[in-house]
Parts: sequence; C-alpha cells; structure tokens
Amino acid sequence: MAHDTITSVEVRRSRRRTATVSAYRDGERTVVAIPARFSRAQEREWVAKMLARLEDKERRRRPSDAQLVQRAHDLSERYLEGRARPSSVSWSPHQGRRWGSCTLVDGSIRISTRVQGMPEWVLDYVLLHELAHLLHAGHGPAFWQLLEGYPRTERARGFLEGVSFVQDEGGATPAPADDDEPAAAGA
Ligand SMILES: [Zn+2]
Repeated sequence: MAHDTITSVEVRRSRRRTATVSAYRDGERTVVAIPARFSRAQEREWVAKMLARLEDKERRRRPSDAQLVQRAHDLSERYLEGRARPSSVSWSPHQGRRWGSCTLVDGSIRISTRVQGMPEWVLDYVLLHELAHLLHAGHGPAFWQLLEGYPRTERARGFLEGVSFVQDEGGATPAPADDDEPAAAGA
C-alpha cells in the first residue's frame, strides 16, 4: 500500500486474480485499487488514467448551465417529441427541498444544485420532470404518462426519496413521499 500525502491518493494492491483497476473518492482521499501483479510503471500509468477518468466522470455529473440547456433539449427531443421548449435551464442553490422547479409564465427551469454529483440518470429524470411540467402542470396520470418513455423514472424517484430521507430526517422518520417531488412553481 503506497500513500501519497501530497495528492492524497492511496494505491491498494489486490491479490485477487480477477482484480480489476478501480478508483473512488473516500472523503478527502482518492483510493485506486490495482492488481498486485502490476509493475511500478503500470501502477503509475493506471493511477494517472483512473484519476483522469474519475475527474471526467465528476465533470459530467456537474454540467454547466450551457450543458444543462443542451441536455434538456436532447431529453425533450427524445422523450417528449421536442414539445417542451424551456426558455432557460439553470442550476439554482435556492430550491429548498425541491429538486427542481419551472415557471410556466416564462418557461424557465431551475435545477437544484443539490442534484450536482448525483448519477446522470437522476439528473435526467429531474430535468425531464420539469420539462414535462411545461406541458402539464399537475401530478395527475396525464403528467406521469409524459414520463413513461423514460425507463428510469421509478428508479430515480426512489433514489431521490432515499436522499431526502437521509438528509431531512436523518433516517429517523420517513418523510411524506409527495413532498419530495420536484414541484412546479406557480403551477
Ligand atoms: Zn412535479
């Protein structure tokens, strides 16, 4: 086990024959697991490669406002026949407990910065949810029908409920599920 105190990267060598290279963040540290048979040169090569890959993944999970607009456009095309056309899509730190909101009068969508760092398919669900609100304000069957084409709707809702449960209740008491839906402001 090598430990680089400057970059706080910990390299763990695994003796399992099937060991593959993996990397993950553990608080301030980054742990890179490599097979025990790797040479020092291979270690250097793969640690650099895995750190770059990890940073790339984290960047993709924190798209810029411009990327958010593009993503919303792609999702609307793919799942809503391009009918939802937001005037703007941006990150917002002022969403409270909501994951996102849309303002029907001007067609703007805001996504909570709390969603940053979540898996891409969760962000896509939150975006799609708000896009669907541009077409349908409430949470009735007609609204959910708009999201039927997105295969991970249920999974994403479960993911967000789990996050709310941990953050809001500290795991003590389940919060009413409906409160955790992205709400349409002014709808
Ligand atoms: Zn909603």
